[in-house]
Amino acid sequence: MKLVKLIANLGYGSRKDVAWMFREGRITDAQGEVLYADDKVAHEQIHVDGEPLDPPPGLVLMMHKPVGYTCSRKDPGRVVFDLLPPRYRMRDPALSTVGRLDRDTSGLLLFTDDGALLHRIISPRAQVSKLYEAELAGDLRGDEGALFASGTLMLEAENEPLEPAQLEVLSPRRARLAITEGRYHQVRRMFAAAGNHVQTLHRASIGGLVLDEQLAPGAWRMLAPDEVDAIF
Ligand code: URA
Repeated sequence: MKLVKLIANLGYGSRKDVAWMFREGRITDAQGEVLYADDKVAHEQIHVDGEPLDPPPGLVLMMHKPVGYTCSRKDPGRVVFDLLPPRYRMRDPALSTVGRLDRDTSGLLLFTDDGALLHRIISPRAQVSKLYEAELAGDLRGDEGALFASGTLMLEAENEPLEPAQLEVLSPRRARLAITEGRYHQVRRMFAAAGNHVQTLHRASIGGLVLDEQLAPGAWRMLAPDEVDAIF
């Protein structure tokens, strides 16, 4: 692919903008040597304004989603895309969140531009387990583990029972819940079906991939291929 198209597709601007960036000498190699639009150069050599070019398509990144941000692109309020460089919204192929977390949920959120990978992670058939930590308004009754594991729990306004889910009680008002589906407000609705109310909800892991504890709320980083493999 021609350099102008490659860089424009990564969201740095229109092809016209990127052509100007070449003219202005803003696109260089790793040694700071100015590049020309018809040069042949490896992706990892290309720098824009002294910074390495963003990764090519096929990227996966993890974010520690903070409370107060939605995963929608259209919400007029705070959205998780605001926490990434603005050009990440302009990439082609587009970057999407892998499933969604509610505005009031924190924790591990993945983004990718790889549609097949996204589908593999969120499809209930893939049985990738998502682990949530919940703080509850009321004490657990003791029968929730059996109810959630039964495979018969029916949420309001749905016509398919939930897949079995595993509950680990940490204290009378704290629990971990592992689910393999991603239905709307699923964890909150499961506890509501058991007569309780979720006060705080945090996603700790997706499959074998655990949220990096070095990431403060709102921070993010790219995933290495072996970390992506750890999901499955
Ligand atoms: N279940 C919920 O209720 N909310 C989330 O954000 C994720 C799972």
